[in-house]
Amino acid sequence: MLVPASFSPAEEAAWVERMLARLAAGDRRRQTTDEALTARAVRLSSHYLGGHARPASVRWVSTMGRRWASCTPTDGTIRVSDRLRDVPEHVVDYVVLHELAHLLVPGHGPAFWRLLASYPRLDRARGFLDGLAHAEGRGADGDDPLDGGALESGAAGGVAAAGDVGDLSDGPSSG
Ligand SMILES: [Zn+2]
Repeated sequence: MLVPASFSPAEEAAWVERMLARLAAGDRRRQTTDEALTARAVRLSSHYLGGHARPASVRWVSTMGRRWASCTPTDGTIRVSDRLRDVPEHVVDYVVLHELAHLLVPGHGPAFWRLLASYPRLDRARGFLDGLAHAEGRGADGDDPLDGGALESGAAGGVAAAGDVGDLSDGPSSG
């Protein structure tokens, strides 16, 4: 956790307390931090995927390009475009759940959609993303605009730029 250097010990303690309370309240707040997004992913996996999808990290990134999100099954990392920070929560939930499902099933075949079938707002969330893509002038050029179906090529190599992964890889939590 980064603490501004100018804090006094008392201020720092108060700040840490505030941050922890904020994380604990993540359910009720917008999921604007990586920590909140990760906590959300864990809950989604537990609720809809029987806890079978276990991401190593879930992060907002600004380098997603045309896609809304991506996932690298080999190291369990999920990245979500920060252009989605302000969309309704059920849309972010769908995007995260979609990438969680890719940890279990690559590509967008019937087995993949069966994993998502229990998510109640699936169609609404997909419709929202379609509309958003059109509003941004980006039609779908893959079978799924969410992550372009990139995983269907098999290897995860084409999914994301290599320069943007790793800082959360498996460092121990310092709190
Ligand atoms: Zn996908």
